[in-house]
Amino acid sequence: MLELTSLKELLADPKQIVITTHHKPDGDAIGSSLGLYNCLIQKGHHVKVVSPTDYPVFLQWLPNNPEVVIYTEKPEESAKYVAEADLIFCLDFNSLARINGLGQHVQESKGKKVLIDHHLEPEDFDDYRYWSINACATAQLVYEFIVNVLEEPQTINKDVATCLYTGIMTDSGSFRFPTTTPRVHHIIADLIERGAENAKIHQLVYDNFSENRLRFLGFCLLRKLEVLTEYNTALITVSRDELHKFNISTGDTEGLVNYALTINGIRLAALIIERADQVKLSLRSTGDFPANEICKKYFNGGGHRNAAGGQSTESLQETIQRFKQILPEYKSLLIQ
Ligand code: 5GP
Ligand code: MN
Repeated sequence: MLELTSLKELLADPKQIVITTHHKPDGDAIGSSLGLYNCLIQKGHHVKVVSPTDYPVFLQWLPNNPEVVIYTEKPEESAKYVAEADLIFCLDFNSLARINGLGQHVQESKGKKVLIDHHLEPEDFDDYRYWSINACATAQLVYEFIVNVLEEPQTINKDVATCLYTGIMTDSGSFRFPTTTPRVHHIIADLIERGAENAKIHQLVYDNFSENRLRFLGFCLLRKLEVLTEYNTALITVSRDELHKFNISTGDTEGLVNYALTINGIRLAALIIERADQVKLSLRSTGDFPANEICKKYFNGGGHRNAAGGQSTESLQETIQRFKQILPEYKSLLIQ
C-alpha cells in the first residue's frame, strides 16, 4: 500500500480521474462519488464518475448528476475512461465483484486505485487506501479525506456539501444508527454551514416516490409480511410478477426491509425479492446479530453486521425455504 501523502502530491497537477462505486448505487455510493467529483473538478482535474448500473430517480437530482456515465448504457465509453485514467477512486465497495463487468477494466487499467470505503475486509486491489469500518458512511470518509489528506476544506462548497450530506443521511438511517457519533453530527453541522439544505435534501430523497410505490408498500405489509415469532424474525418476500404488477422500478424497494424491523422484539428482518436473473436478499438486524455472516455463509454476499445482502440462483420458493432452514442455527442469538 502506498502512502497517502504521495497521493496528495500526485493530485497537485491536473489528472485524468475516474470515480466508481458499487452496482445499483445507493445514496452513499452516489453521494460520495458526486461529492468527490464536485471537489476534484475545482482543482482542474478531468473527472468522470462511472457507475456500473443505473440508480433510483430520487438520487438523480444531486449536483452534476448528468455527468455520471452508466457502464451498462455506455460500456465502450466507460471502459475507455477507466483505461486512460491516472487515478481510479473506488468508493463504497470492498471487492471488484461489486462493480460487475467494470471490475475487469479497473483491474486491467494502469491507473492507480484509491479505495475509500467502510465495508469489512476489503480485497487487495487498491494502491491507496482510506478505509474505516467505524465510519457511518463512505461520504463521511470522503469528507475526512478532503479535509485531512487533500487538506482542501475550502473545496467543500454547496455542491460537495449537498452530496456528502445525502450520503451520510441515507447510510446512517437519517442519523439513527449506532455509527452516528458526535463526530458525524459535527460534520453534518459543517455541511449545513457550507450550504447543504437539510430539509430540502430529506424531502428530495424520502418524499419523492410514485403512488405505485406507496401502494406496493401497503400490499407488502398486508399480504407479504411473515412473522416468525419463534425466531424473532420477520420477512417480506416478493415475486417477479408482483414487481411487474405494481410497475416497480429501481430503488422502489429501497427501505422496505426496515419496516419488518419496526415490529417490537424483531431482531432479524429479511426482504427476499425475485429479480430478473436471480433472487436478491436484504437482511437487517439489531444489536450484535451478524446479518452479514448469514449473507456471506449462505447467500454469496456480505455487508455490515446490521445491514447485509446477498443472492441466490435457486427459485424464490427454494430461497425462502433455505433462509428459514438457517434460522435454527442462529436461534440462541435471535431469542436473546
Ligand atoms: P441492501 O440490503 O441495501 O442491498 O444492502 C445492504 C448492505 O449489504 C450494502 O450496504 C452492502 O454493504 C451489503 N451488500 C448487499 N448486497 C451484497 C452482496 O451481494 N455482496 C456483498 N458483499 N455485500 C452486499
Ligand atoms: Mn455506504
